[in-house]
Amino acid sequence: MPTSQEKISPLSADFGYATDKGKVRSNNEDSVVVSEELNLAAVADGMGGHNSGELASSMAARTLVEKIAAIRAGKLSAPVTDTRLSRQANDLIFAATAANAKIFETSKIPDNKGMGTTLSAVLFHSTGAAIAHIGDSRIYVLRKGKLVQITQDHSLVMEQVRKGIITKEEAEASTMQNILTRAMGIHKNIRFDVGDVTLSPGDRLLLCTDGLFKAVKEELMPSILSSSDSPQKIAAGLVRLANENGGPDNISVVVIGVARSTIFTRLKKAIRKARRALSGEADGETRQN
Ligand code: MG
Repeated sequence: MPTSQEKISPLSADFGYATDKGKVRSNNEDSVVVSEELNLAAVADGMGGHNSGELASSMAARTLVEKIAAIRAGKLSAPVTDTRLSRQANDLIFAATAANAKIFETSKIPDNKGMGTTLSAVLFHSTGAAIAHIGDSRIYVLRKGKLVQITQDHSLVMEQVRKGIITKEEAEASTMQNILTRAMGIHKNIRFDVGDVTLSPGDRLLLCTDGLFKAVKEELMPSILSSSDSPQKIAAGLVRLANENGGPDNISVVVIGVARSTIFTRLKKAIRKARRALSGEADGETRQN
C-alpha cells in the first residue's frame, strides 16, 4: 500500500528514442529531442528542398529546448496565453511560437523556399504532460494495453477522413498523403494544438513521425509498447521494424514510460545525469542520423 507521501509524489518519465533515415531517403530530415532534465521530448519532420528540411526540424527541436531551459532557469518568463491550461502548456505555446518565427524568417532565404516542419512535443508536469502539436507526426498514449492517438493529423487526407469524405484505408492509400494543412514555418502566425493529458503510472507515450506509422501497422503497436523492455529498447525495436518493412521514409520514435516518482527513480535519474556529465554527452541535444 502506498504511503501518503508516495500518493502525492509527481510522476517520473523514462525516455527512449531512435531516429533513422530509413531505406529509401538519402538523408534524415527528422529531428528528435529528449531532455531528461527538462522532462521534455519532441519529434519534428522537416520538409523543403536542399537541406532546408533538416534545418527546419532541428531549429524547431533546438529552439524548444532552449526556450524551455531558459524559462526553467528563470532567465525568461513566458506569458500565460490560455488560463485553462497548465503552466507547462503555456510554456510550450511560447517556445513553439518562437521556433515558428525563427523558421519562418529563415524560409525567406531563396534556398530555403518551402521549408517547414511538423512538431509533436510533450512536457511533463506533476499530474501528466502538456502537449503541443502541428502537422502529421503523432502522439499516442498506451494505457492498460489500449493505444489511443491523442493528436489529430493536420493533413489533407485525414481532414477528409474526419469529414467523412473518404475512409482511413483510402487515406492510407492516397498519393496526397504528404499534403499538410498546417505546419511550422509556412506562415508568420500559426495555431498549434495544445492541451494537457492526465497520466498514470504504467502509461506509456509514443511520439513518432509518419515514417513509423506508414511502415508499422497501428494494430501491432500496443503489444510492442506493452513489452517489459525499456523505453530505449522499444524505440530502437520500432525503428528496426519500420526498416524491415521497407523504411519508406525517415523514422523517428520517442517512447516514454510513466512511473510514480520514488527515491529509486530519482536516484536512477541522478546516476544518468552523472554519467552524461562524465561522458561529455549533453542533455537535450537534437539528434539526426
Ligand atoms: Mg516523414
